[in-house]
Amino acid sequence: MPNSNGRKKRGGSPYLFIAAVLALLIGIAVFGIQALNERAAADSERKQLFTPAPSPTVSGVSVTPAPGFSTYTPAPTATPAPTPAPEIDATVLKVGSKGDEVSRLQARLQELGYYAGKVDGDYGSGTRQAVIVFQKQHGLAADGAAGPKTLAVLYSDQAQMIVTTPMPTGLDTLAGDIPLLVNKWNVLPEDYFPADLVRIKDLAGDLLLYDDESFMGVRTAVEALIRMIGDAKQDGVDPWKVGGAYRTIADQKKIFNRRVNKYMNDDGLSRSKAESRTRLTVADPGASEHHTGLAFDLNVPGATFSDTAQYVWLKQHCWDYGFIMRYTDEKEDLTGIIGEEWHVRYVGVEHAKKIQELDLCLEEYVELLKKQ
Ligand SMILES: [Zn+2]
Repeated sequence: MPNSNGRKKRGGSPYLFIAAVLALLIGIAVFGIQALNERAAADSERKQLFTPAPSPTVSGVSVTPAPGFSTYTPAPTATPAPTPAPEIDATVLKVGSKGDEVSRLQARLQELGYYAGKVDGDYGSGTRQAVIVFQKQHGLAADGAAGPKTLAVLYSDQAQMIVTTPMPTGLDTLAGDIPLLVNKWNVLPEDYFPADLVRIKDLAGDLLLYDDESFMGVRTAVEALIRMIGDAKQDGVDPWKVGGAYRTIADQKKIFNRRVNKYMNDDGLSRSKAESRTRLTVADPGASEHHTGLAFDLNVPGATFSDTAQYVWLKQHCWDYGFIMRYTDEKEDLTGIIGEEWHVRYVGVEHAKKIQELDLCLEEYVELLKKQ
């Protein structure tokens, strides 16, 4: 019995064993699912940590980024924001270039104060001068052509506003192999100023009379003027008065606008008609040769200059001192200015003698030099 009891006892235990195994399996299963769930939860938590929540978008309302997210703050700069740079890889813009890229160049130069002319997409001498001043101020080769280097600086935030100090170092009006040509088709930029301007009276003293004692000119030209008038006096031809010399664009603007207003008020002309009529006798600001500091108007008090001995002497001898009779009636079509026998322009002795010999106006002579 005890044996059978023991067997019976052992015989009853398989049910308990199965139940325990089942319980264990269920336990493992439950624990496993729970562990998987926990891992998934942890993963999603990690994801939340590393993936920024999408920022709320509200149409028409600006959304402040959550703190901790870096925001782009543009560096403060004194220059106007650069206009988007055009394709400038291999572009070289120069005199004669035309189109949108030239307009963009002119607009940018204007924005920075280098260019005062029209934004017309036409790369003329005014644009060239502005590019030269820009290049000089930025340590670039000052060739007046806007190549990749110049354009890269111009459209970057390295581009500086023009520096206009009270005593700027001017442009050398006598530089180069070709005399500086200024007329209504070759206009100087508004910020143009010649180098080495001197007050004529400081050098010439009482040798000359002056309409205005503050008249100035480029030193080399003033010195030539003094030699010339000194020799004329030696020949007994005297007196001489300076009626016009260096003129700033501001001066020229004043003269031009005064005339335009006069035609509008007195004759009832529209502005554009008054401007057209003014242009017959007054050069546009920037188109006056007086702006070079190399031109002088000479006169004789109380006389019409073309009737005087001074005019006869000047016409014969001015070439020997580097001056030319700039405007004659015969060349009016080419110069755009009616005959002005009182106006001389300094170009240097070598050029002056050739111009006399060939009987050319400066426009023709410059054209000839460019072809050679
Ligand atoms: Zn003149």
